[in-house]
Amino acid sequence: MDDRRILVAEDEQKIADTLKFGLSEHGFVTEVAYNGKIALKLFQTYEYDLIVLDINLPGMDGYELCKAIRKQNEHVPVIMLTALSSLNDKIEGYDAGADDYIIKPFEFKELLMKIRVLLKRTTVQTGPTGNLLTAADLEMNLENKEVKRAGLPINLTAKEFQLLEYLVRNKNRVVSRADIAINVWDIDFDTNTNVIDVYISYVRNKVDKPFDQKLIQTQVGMGYILKETG
Ligand code: CA
Repeated sequence: MDDRRILVAEDEQKIADTLKFGLSEHGFVTEVAYNGKIALKLFQTYEYDLIVLDINLPGMDGYELCKAIRKQNEHVPVIMLTALSSLNDKIEGYDAGADDYIIKPFEFKELLMKIRVLLKRTTVQTGPTGNLLTAADLEMNLENKEVKRAGLPINLTAKEFQLLEYLVRNKNRVVSRADIAINVWDIDFDTNTNVIDVYISYVRNKVDKPFDQKLIQTQVGMGYILKETG
């Protein structure tokens, strides 16, 4: 639980202070925004593990704020604070993408419990599993075949995926064209064929070209290496 970052969007000074103090005491790094627009700015600038937001906020209300957060991040847990307890408000909150809500006035302990439950859930969902391969800011999900670099999705064909997977599994070491041929194509290529180089260039175009750091490097006379650094 250490160093988890929580963003609190709440304009009532007293509640905001209580939350900041209470959450900090329980080991959370807590930042408070007293305005919805400022909260969104903070969210776009820093990374948070969970958001607590009030519905009635100046600048941008809690529903709008929640929707804007969801546009950028589908997974970060959001808890809504509301003085209103009617069914419609709850429904609107869930529609906006909130994971849970809490009705004011509330016991700090109750909020803390909800926060812990949601953080545990996200840890399970996004924690390291055998199905996720990573190299630097590149992520490959072997289960749903999603590839991301710096959080941006990359579409690869099945063969490109297999090639990249092989390079990532062997990251930081040189693999020869013969290694690639046997492991990715299941055959021994005639040394004259350039199919591997062609596929390497396809993968580079998608995975490296848009980014400053080039992961896939050519080792002249030896093959290729996917390097995590430099
Ligand atoms: Ca308020």
